[in-house]
Amino acid sequence: MPAQGLDDLIGLLSSRGYEVWGARERDDALGLMPIETAAELPRGRVEAAEAGRVRLVEGPRDAVFDHTLPMHGLKRLVHPAEEKLYATGPDLVARDEAVAANPVAVLGVRPCDLAALETLTQVFEGGPYSDTRYRQRRDALFLVAVNCMRPAATCFCASMHTGPRAEAGFDLSLDELLDGDRHVFLVTAGSARGREILAELPGEAACAADLDAAEAGSRACAAAQQRRMVEGVEGLLKRNLEHPHWSEVAERCLSCANCTMVCPTCFCNTLEDRSSLDGAEAERWRRWDSCFTLDFSYLHGGAVRRETASRYRQWMTHKLSHWHDQFGMSGCVGCGRCIGWCPVGIDITAEAAAIAASEQGQTRSGDET
Ligand code: SF4
Ligand code: SF4
Repeated sequence: MPAQGLDDLIGLLSSRGYEVWGARERDDALGLMPIETAAELPRGRVEAAEAGRVRLVEGPRDAVFDHTLPMHGLKRLVHPAEEKLYATGPDLVARDEAVAANPVAVLGVRPCDLAALETLTQVFEGGPYSDTRYRQRRDALFLVAVNCMRPAATCFCASMHTGPRAEAGFDLSLDELLDGDRHVFLVTAGSARGREILAELPGEAACAADLDAAEAGSRACAAAQQRRMVEGVEGLLKRNLEHPHWSEVAERCLSCANCTMVCPTCFCNTLEDRSSLDGAEAERWRRWDSCFTLDFSYLHGGAVRRETASRYRQWMTHKLSHWHDQFGMSGCVGCGRCIGWCPVGIDITAEAAAIAASEQGQTRSGDET
């Protein structure tokens, strides 16, 4: 598909009733929000990301998708930050609040965010109880993935096996091929809905050279990643629940909860009841919560996790270890958002590596003894 075909794609999705969302620049960063034309995408811009800092800067080429991740993943679309669940009156009959699940097509979903959506699906639907509100919103999504050709410095999807190439979970996927004056997208359909749209897009059958270039781009992106998660982290953290490194991290951690807010898989929420003073109405709301707040672990009589060290340990061990026991998969997809958006630059890969290094050091000194 020629590069100009992106506007045809947006038009086709709009004509089918989808509101099209994409990454848009705001305040030198990227947000995921509605777009009307491809011109609103951050063409030629890339993220200069590092621990504690994310900024968009000019990139080396005129690509539409060389930037990587908007601040938020798809979580907001399937699990809103706050929503009213139901209301009741003096009759005490609960009236469910209808789900506003308008069709949304997201253009430019990265493979790690597709993996995060799969993770959320397992959380909300994998157990004995299924969240019907989640399902309604998930069914309303049309996903146009983009395979990454360039990682941000905070990305480590390759070591989590969630990217940089999407294998499933999308309706359409795009590989952006830019070579001199030739600027095209390799478009792959991943669903019946995707095939219908693909049939109406401008373009021609892909040649072998383009298929090879797309695969080579993904390989190069994986090889260029500067961060990686240590191998065997699930067992490593379980063996080191009393490691002194948790206290060392706590000296830096602000317990601000930024990491959990930007994480595309963090799903914790709380329920709040509100009633009018005259007792005529009451509502139940669901809001995102975070294991970094003191109240999150409140049981009768007080909070269980009073220290920042125990809250950081809870978050990291849940993501990387206990999520496997609970959901049969990792709770981290390697998107790196928690690294970039942590105000003090705490780096989940570095913290795991520090614990691994001290364990190896202990093993070595044990061997020498
Ligand atoms: S823990 Fe960090 S790197 Fe892993 S999915 Fe969440 S935000 Fe991304
Ligand atoms: S790790 Fe960073 S982002 Fe997360 S609570 Fe601590 S200071 Fe905030």
